[in-house]
Amino acid sequence: MNKITKLFLIIFSLFYASNSQAMLNIFACESEWAALVKEITQDKSDIFIAVHPKQDAHHISAKPSLIAKARKADLLVCNGGDLEAGWLPIIIKNSRNNNIITGAPGNFMATDYVDLIEKPSQIDRKFGDIHIYGNPHIHFSPDNILIVAKELLKKITSLDPKNKKYYNDNYNNFRALFSKKMQSWRKIKIKNEIIVIHRSYSYLLKWLSVDNYYNIEKYSGVSPSLKHLKYLGDKFTSDKKFTALISDFDDRSLKKWLSEFKNINVLNINYSPDFDEDIISFFDKIFKQISESQNL
Ligand SMILES: [Zn+2]
Repeated sequence: MNKITKLFLIIFSLFYASNSQAMLNIFACESEWAALVKEITQDKSDIFIAVHPKQDAHHISAKPSLIAKARKADLLVCNGGDLEAGWLPIIIKNSRNNNIITGAPGNFMATDYVDLIEKPSQIDRKFGDIHIYGNPHIHFSPDNILIVAKELLKKITSLDPKNKKYYNDNYNNFRALFSKKMQSWRKIKIKNEIIVIHRSYSYLLKWLSVDNYYNIEKYSGVSPSLKHLKYLGDKFTSDKKFTALISDFDDRSLKKWLSEFKNINVLNINYSPDFDEDIISFFDKIFKQISESQNL
């Protein structure tokens, strides 16, 4: 190797090292929050997603590979509100990364910035209810997306102030596009009776002004009793039209049970965006599914 090549390689590796250091290393629990971070940081972050978009975020295992990723993170962006209570504390503790522990500058929980709905009147785990602080599935409300995006901007800018203008511009572009889309999503009229299995879509239904709907689970995360199913089955045996919103990880046997009713249209609504799906496309897809189902 001649001297010039050697010098070039040294300069190149120094440049590469400093460049990679400049990237914000982000550990996102779910792809919805990763997609939102991406809108703000664009190419200035390296985002790892812990939960596969088709996996159930309530129940994943704290694998060593996740702990290793958390160890290197500058910022942890998760849902919070006990959605990840079964595995995230183990990951944070074992990562030994003081940047991301509770209260540290690199710890961001989306539910900290939103008022949770469906808070249980009495906290009693004897029913097996998995959401004791209220419903944590906040990302299905477009309003909540904008609230969390604003807080994420503050958080990201505080960790990387030199790119403040870049993040601000990205955020403003996103906010403008998303707000325009919200106007068309708001126009969707729900005509059918709605059914859900788990309370995953409560914020979405509230946003669409649907106040009453059927919930197959009497207690969050607990399979319904036969008595409860019988009660619901009687309700569903009618001339009314129903739309059931079912997520990728809802109980398949319940999904099958619902699909056996001729007047129930079962919609598979993705809980999270795919890896390459941006947040606007994700909402566009879901609102289109729901809108079309109302005219069947
Ligand atoms: Zn849940």
